[in-house]
Amino acid sequence: MADSSQKRSYNKIFSLLKEHNKWFENVIPLIASENIPSPAVREAIISDFGNRYAEGWPGERVYAGCIYIDKVEFECMALAKKLFKATFADVRPISGVVANLVIYSAFSDPGDVMLAPSIPAGGHISHGKKEHAGTAGLVHGLDIEFYPFNAEEMTIDVDKTKNKVKELDRAGRLPKLAMFGGSLFLFPHPVKELSDFLKNYDIFINYDGAHVAGLIAGNQFQDPLREGADAMTISTHKTLFGPQGGMILSTEKYAEQIKRATFPGLTSSHHIHHMAAKAVALAEALEFGKKYASQVIKNAKALAESLNSLGFTVLGEKRGFTKSHQIAVNVLAYSDGGKVEANLEKANIIVNRQLIPGDIKAGRNYFHPGGIRLGVSEITRLGMKESEMKEIASFIKKVVIDKKDKKKVVSEVKLFRKNFQKVHFCFDKKLGGYEYVKLR
Ligand SMILES: *Cc1c(COP(=O)(O)O)cnc(C)c1O
Repeated sequence: MADSSQKRSYNKIFSLLKEHNKWFENVIPLIASENIPSPAVREAIISDFGNRYAEGWPGERVYAGCIYIDKVEFECMALAKKLFKATFADVRPISGVVANLVIYSAFSDPGDVMLAPSIPAGGHISHGKKEHAGTAGLVHGLDIEFYPFNAEEMTIDVDKTKNKVKELDRAGRLPKLAMFGGSLFLFPHPVKELSDFLKNYDIFINYDGAHVAGLIAGNQFQDPLREGADAMTISTHKTLFGPQGGMILSTEKYAEQIKRATFPGLTSSHHIHHMAAKAVALAEALEFGKKYASQVIKNAKALAESLNSLGFTVLGEKRGFTKSHQIAVNVLAYSDGGKVEANLEKANIIVNRQLIPGDIKAGRNYFHPGGIRLGVSEITRLGMKESEMKEIASFIKKVVIDKKDKKKVVSEVKLFRKNFQKVHFCFDKKLGGYEYVKLR
C-alpha cells in the first residue's frame, strides 16, 4: 500500500531535519545570537523532564512527580548564582524576551516610561515601542524613550542621557526603568557611569545581557551587577552554551517580586528539559567559560581587523572595532545588508542583515539596511582561532567585493569546515556538533 499523505509528511519532516544538520556541518555559522550546544546539553533536552510540569518554586510545587526535577533545579540555581556572582537566580523564564517581561511586570506599570536603546543603536525589539510592536510597549504598555547614542563611539552617550532624564523629570515623565544592553552590542554600556545618577531618581536598572552573558560569565566583558544594575536578564544560548532559554540574576532583595512575576505571571510550564540543560551549560561555563570567552574576544577582533584590511568598513574603528563577540560592517559600498546576507548564504556563510546608525534617517529599513552583523561565538566553540578568522574574512571578500562564483566558494568553505565538527569547551565530546541522532 502506498504511504498516506500524513506518512509522507512525517517522513519529509525527518528528511528535512537531517538535511539541515548536514548543511550546517558545511556552513560558516556567524549569526551572533546563536551557538552550538555540547552533546551533554542535547542529551538533557531529550530527557523525560521535557514531558513534565513543575509549576512554582522547587520544594513548593503545585504538582507531584517533581522529586528529581527539584534537585536539578536547585543545582541549576546554585550554578547560576556562582557563575554570575548573584545572590538570587530565577532559571525559569523560557526565553530572553520572557525574562525581560518579568522585569517589566515586577518593577513597572503600564504607562510608565522606560529608557532603552533604539534598534539602530543596538536595542532589541523586546525593549521597543508599541508602534513598532515592541514587547515593552505592546505587551506591557511601557512608554519608551531612547538613550542618546554616540555612533562614533558606538555606545550610549552619558552626558546627554543625564540631560534627557532631567528633562523628562521636568516634564513629569521620569522613567521608572532603565534598560541597558542590546542586540548590536560591540562595546560595554556605561552602567557604572550612570547607575548612581539613575538611582538618585529611584529608577530600576536592568541589564539585558542576552548576547553577552557568556562573556560576562567568563569575566571578559563588563560586570553589570557590580556596576550598579539591579537585575540582569539573559538568554542562555547566545554566548552561553545553550539550550535556548532565559534567566534572571539579581539580589535577594528583589527575589519575591521576580518569582511572582515569573510564576504565575509569565510561565506555566518552564520547559523543564531546558532547565536541566541550562544546569549542564552552566557547569560547562564554570569549567571552560573563561578560556572560551577570551578566545571569542580575540577571534572577533581578528575577524574585524582582517575584514578592515581587506577593504570593508567595519564599525567602531575608533575603538578597535569590537570588545564583544560581534562585528558590524557597513556594506553600502557594495550593495545593502539584505542582498549581502542572501549572497553570503548562497556561499554557505550565514550572517544577518543589520540596521546600523543612520539607516532610519536615510530612509533604509529592516529589509535593506546598511549593514550586516557577524558573531564568532559558534565558530569559536568549534575550535577556530585567529588564523581561521583570516580565512573567513577572505571568503566574505570573495563573495561581497570580488563577486566570485558562489558555487566555487561553497566548495572552499566545505573543505575549510571539515576539521571543525566537534564542540569544544565541554566535558564530553563524543558526538559531532551537528550529528543527527535517530531515536526511531
Ligand atoms: C536575543 C535578545 C533577546 C531575546 O532573547 P530570546 O531568548 O530570543 O527571547 C532579548 N534581548 C536582547 C538584547 C537580545 O539580543
